[in-house]
Order: sequence, then C-alpha cells, then structure tokens
Amino acid sequence: MSGRVHLVGAGPGDPGLLTARALELIASADVILYDRLIPSSALDGARPDAELLFVGKEGGGDSVPQEQTEALMVERAQAGRTVVRLKGGDPFVFGRGGEEALTLRAAGIPFEVVPGVTAGVAASAYAGIPVTHRGLARAVALVTGQTREDEDGGEVAIDWPALAAFPGTLVLYMGVRRLPGIAAALIAAGRPGSQPAAIVEAGTLPGQRTVTGTLETIAATAEREGIRPPSITIVGPVAALAEELAWLPPRPLSGVSVAVTRARAQASGLARRLETLGATVVQAPAIRVQPISDPAAAAIDPRTYDLICVTSANGVAGLFERLDDGVHPRGDARALAATRIAAIGPATTRALAEHGIVADVVPERAVAEALVEALAELPVARALVVRAREARDVLPDALRARGAEVDVLPVYETLAEPLSPRTLQAVRAADYITFTSSSSVRFFLQAAGGEAGLSGAARIVSIGPVTSATLREHGLEPDVEADPFDVEGMIAALLADAAARASDA
Ligand code: SAH
Repeated sequence: MSGRVHLVGAGPGDPGLLTARALELIASADVILYDRLIPSSALDGARPDAELLFVGKEGGGDSVPQEQTEALMVERAQAGRTVVRLKGGDPFVFGRGGEEALTLRAAGIPFEVVPGVTAGVAASAYAGIPVTHRGLARAVALVTGQTREDEDGGEVAIDWPALAAFPGTLVLYMGVRRLPGIAAALIAAGRPGSQPAAIVEAGTLPGQRTVTGTLETIAATAEREGIRPPSITIVGPVAALAEELAWLPPRPLSGVSVAVTRARAQASGLARRLETLGATVVQAPAIRVQPISDPAAAAIDPRTYDLICVTSANGVAGLFERLDDGVHPRGDARALAATRIAAIGPATTRALAEHGIVADVVPERAVAEALVEALAELPVARALVVRAREARDVLPDALRARGAEVDVLPVYETLAEPLSPRTLQAVRAADYITFTSSSSVRFFLQAAGGEAGLSGAARIVSIGPVTSATLREHGLEPDVEADPFDVEGMIAALLADAAARASDA
C-alpha cells in the first residue's frame, strides 16, 4: 500500500501564517521534505521520530536536484509512509509543485495539495501595499523574473510588451540581481518609468524591509540599500500606498539574529517570543528529549511520598504518565491529592497548573539550591524527585542530609542531536547564541566539534548560574546571564544587552 504525499505551502515566513491544515499535517507526517524558505519554527510540531530531509539550497550553493527530491518523495511514499513536501509560500506558485504533482500522478501515488499564503501577496500586505485597490489596480499579475531554459538550452523569453501593457499590478518574484535588467526591459517595452515601485525584502519575516521608488529608480535604490533575497518587487500605482499604509511597528530586536540550542519541541515558545521582538531566529536543536521508563523505577508509586519535587515541564509530563491509583483514571491529578508538590521554574509551575495542580512550594530563583532553602521549614519523611536521568544531585543530597528518605524517578533523558553544517554556519554568523541548560551546552559543543565551533562573534547568553558554570568549564565566558533564571529572564537580559550595544554603536 502506497502512502500519501501532501504538497504543503508553509506561507511566506511568519509562522502565524502557516495554515491549520499545514500544522496538522506536519504534526502527523512520517517524512518531511522541506525547502529553505519555510518559517524557522515550521518543523517544531513534527513528530520526534519523523524523518526530516532538507532538499533546498545550501546557503546559496547547490540545491538538491529536482529529480532527486521527486525520487525521494516517490520512494518514501511507495514504502507506505506519509510524506509532507513542505514549500515556502504556496506550492503551486513558482514552487514546482505542479511538476511534483505530475510525477506523483504518473507513479500512481495519491496526493493532496495544501495552498499556502504566497509571498507576493503576503509581503505586499505586510508592507502596507494592497495588490488590488479601487481606482488603482483591477488586476494583479504574479510574474517570475527567473527565466527558464528550454529543451534546446536557449532561454524562454519573457514577453515584455505584454507584461508592460498588463492593466494592473505586477508582482515580481525573483533574485534581486535580475532587477536592473527587468526594470529596463519593462520601460523599453512601454511601462512608464515614473510608475511607483517597491521592493519588500524578507516579507513577513522579522527582518522585513521595504524600499520604494519608481520603476526607473528602484533598481539603483535596491542596490544602494543592499537589498538581499528573498525579496519581491511590486510595480504599479498601488506601490505608492506603502508610504501611507505601512503598519508593521519597529521592533527592538530587528536586525538581530539569535541562535536557539534547546530541543525543537521546547524551543518554539522561546523562538516565537524572540521573533515577535523582531529577531531572526536560527534553530539549532542540539538536544532531543526522550521519555524513558526505567525498570528500576517501576515499583515507585508517587502516592507513597509526602513530597514530590519536579524540576522541569518534561518531568511533569513524565510524572503524570505514571499516575495510576487504581481508582481514578491513569494520569488523573486526584491521585496526588494527599501529596505536597514542589516545583522549580515557571515552565514547570505552568505545566503543573495545566494538570490542575498549584505547586505548594516554588522558590523565587529557579535553581535546586533555592528549592532546598525554600523547603527548609517543611517536615519531609519520604521525598520523590522527578527529573532527567542525568542531573545534579543537589536536591536529593540535601533532602537526605536532612534525614529524609529520597527516591529519584528519572522520566526522560536528553540525547545529542546532530546539527547540519548549514545550521552550524548560521549559528556562527548569529549575533547571539542562547543556552537554556547545561546539557544544551554540552550537546551543542559536541555537535559543533568543541569550543572552536563557536569561535564566531556571537555573544553567549546563559539562562542562569548553573548553565554559566558549565559554559566556563568548557572555556566559554557567558556575555549575558539571565536573572530571573528562566526564559523570560533570558529574553529580558538579551533585550537589555542588545539595547546597550545599539546605543554604544
Ligand atoms: N512558492 C513560493 C515562491 C517560491 S519562488 C510562494 O508562493 O511564495 C521564491 C521567490 O519567492 C523568491 O525569490 C522571492 O522572490 C519570493 N519570496 C519567497 N519568500 C519571500 C519573502 N518572505 N519575502 C519576499 N519574497 C519572498
């Protein structure tokens, strides 16, 4: 039985513009073949065991040949797997989605097409340019400036007179390199050089920029402003509306790139917050979280303890997996009715709250030492510490020192995740690199081939003193340390650092 292929548009870059159907398919796919121009967080919701294959261009270098991409897609589907072919924008707008659909039809593989928000329309909208407008444009043409070679190796010519005469807005998808030639050809074919034109670079992405001018001046302006791909050009009277309708507020981290090393499944909150602040996020998940069930811990019944300490949101998930008192359904919080619960960190507290539990003890500072202090007055006979397999023993040791009987319940482990050369290159070019745990430091350095892998100018941001200590053990001095020691504290510290540096510059 052949699997199904979904040709899915991922939208122009803002993760908020992924469709509900796209997210649903990403979450259930066995295999995802993805391009470069997809939102950085688009794969966050993928299954941990999904096969993620990059088939786009390697940093301006060679792309995976189209035939190879199609062959992969067909082969995985024939093996019975559910394949998502994820493309920027809309799969049928200059995305070669039509060709891929023809290949699938020829191979007898069932497919579905999920439209996406196409860059030409989205980037325009985010720049305040309505592509049609009463009295200004009754039609819009989506045009590729990319010429294609025909079978004899010649170029398929663009019909410039027809395009110049088009009674409406021209939206040009292309590399900026071609802009001077295209603008000149349109003018030569009769499009007025005085017609308004605009270029939107990185439309809907955190680094979005717009430059405006006329058909005659736009290429030179783009060159002067250093406009880079991806960008679209809008030609027509509507382009002038950008001046009046630009609505995207300036953002504090505009132009700042931040690498995020935490596990993909956990990174999305942090990445999303950073992007909302205008940062360009480089996802570098060097670590993966895997639930475990340790046979040695099988006999542990959480209800038999008078105190349970949970140190992370992953720990909360693992704890609830094991709740079964034989009366209430598995995972029902009532099994813990008689137990005191202590938690470290706001994400842990939130995860507990999602299960209807308000933690009894939450130290102000999100470190084990602070929890030990906060528990000082509480009588504890039997305590359970729910945590990762590898973790510091500060908490169990301190509780034992107070005479308590302590068991440790490991419910997940963190594993190293390899990073592609492309990702590592992007991290080295980033302005900041964030570490949210000691294990993310260790696993990142492992993936990067040691401290030397970080020799770039990136400023190192640490979530707190424990992570900072691990960085120092590896010869890296954090430039920014969060306080409070959580994600919000880290974002605040990064914002302050970026602002200080901007005012120095
Ligand atoms: N299928 C895609 C287009 C792929 S062609 C879609 O429907 O949007 C690639 C071209 O799209 C780029 O050269 C650029 O011109 C344009 N593009 C893609 N993403 C963009 C973005 N975020 N901002 C501006 N232009 C973009």
